[in-house]
Amino acid sequence: MSKRAISTEQIHHPYRAPEGWNAHPVGVFKASTVLFKNTADLHQYRPRDGKSYRYGLHGTPTSYTLAARIATLECAAHCLLVPSGLAAVTLVSLGLLRPGDEVLVPDNVYGQNRYLSESLLPQFGIAYKFYDPLDAKGFEALLSPQTKLVWLEAAGSITLEFPDLIGILSACKQHGVLTAMDNTWGSGIAFNPFEIASGLGVDVSMQALTKYASGGADVLMGSVCTRDLALHERLNHMHEHLGYGLGQNDVELVLRGLPTLALRYRAQDATTRALAEWMQGRPEVAQVLHPALADSPGHAYWLQTSSAGAACLFSVIFKPEYSAAQVDAFVDALDLFGIGYSWAGPMSLAVPYDMSRSRALPSKLAPGRIVRFAIGLEDAADLQADLAQALSQRSTRA
Ligand SMILES: *Cc1c(COP(=O)(O)O)cnc(C)c1O
Repeated sequence: MSKRAISTEQIHHPYRAPEGWNAHPVGVFKASTVLFKNTADLHQYRPRDGKSYRYGLHGTPTSYTLAARIATLECAAHCLLVPSGLAAVTLVSLGLLRPGDEVLVPDNVYGQNRYLSESLLPQFGIAYKFYDPLDAKGFEALLSPQTKLVWLEAAGSITLEFPDLIGILSACKQHGVLTAMDNTWGSGIAFNPFEIASGLGVDVSMQALTKYASGGADVLMGSVCTRDLALHERLNHMHEHLGYGLGQNDVELVLRGLPTLALRYRAQDATTRALAEWMQGRPEVAQVLHPALADSPGHAYWLQTSSAGAACLFSVIFKPEYSAAQVDAFVDALDLFGIGYSWAGPMSLAVPYDMSRSRALPSKLAPGRIVRFAIGLEDAADLQADLAQALSQRSTRA
């Protein structure tokens, strides 16, 4: 054959790397087109079951590996990967709800899940109600024949109440209602979402892999895990329609985070508890919210559920005499804490919140301005010294 032009040669180059490469890191396989051997191979039906290749959007060796490892982490059988934690929330609600159905959402759910339920789902004829995650009896009274999905989050966002998982899951089981947990906080480390108590667990567990699984604060990704194959297939059907794709470099970043996940979780847990306890002794503080603290809402439920710890989050409610401007000034005075969203990355973060606008039910928490802290991997003593200096600056201004 005559010599081909450079452009053709570079695309149809005959070299193949030798087989037998073996190393701990997984290869990063990238493609939109997956090549078939011939037309007979092309015409063969390939189900989306993670066992064959059809098109880059439907999975690569890299993404199949991550899906298998996340399923193991979550004690699940099946895992779907999506491009963000929010995409995972949306996949679950859109995948499992239909017009005429109702979804029950905890009042302290992740803000974007609340927003989805309030503003998008009603446009598809899906109703919603908020429930108090600490009141299983009140929750059960809200269940109706239209209730087709119950969201759970343990601990809840910002205010970190730990729900009565056993009470709520028992009621759902009795009424035959599907349950989905946002398990970003537990992350597969703090508890097994599919076995909260003997014979009692959720049907779906989703995570923002953006947080702990990655650990680097440099990637967005989400997962949706199930044990039941039929349920997985319902979600997989919606996944296919939504066209969720993943950058394989991002998949690799999450794979790199997984071996250190448990170590990071425990280290951040220890620093977080030390700082939360120290904050409890400060005169500026009305209440510290962290499920492992005895006077934090849902502490008894956390004890029932979580043998293996708590995440890197705590919130502080300042005494009501401190104005919003003073609390903002305290956050601005922090040196080691970044001001920004997300958590479970290397850098500690602090964000002031006005909870009066993001809860539907009356609050049982102390009144006052709240600051949510996400603790990173810095040294605990350095972080405590920074909190102390920022508090003293704010006090002088008070
Ligand atoms: C961050 C977060 C999400 C969303 O994850 P993104 O990847 O940022 O979209 C969902 N649920 C919880 C509890 C979160 O903290």
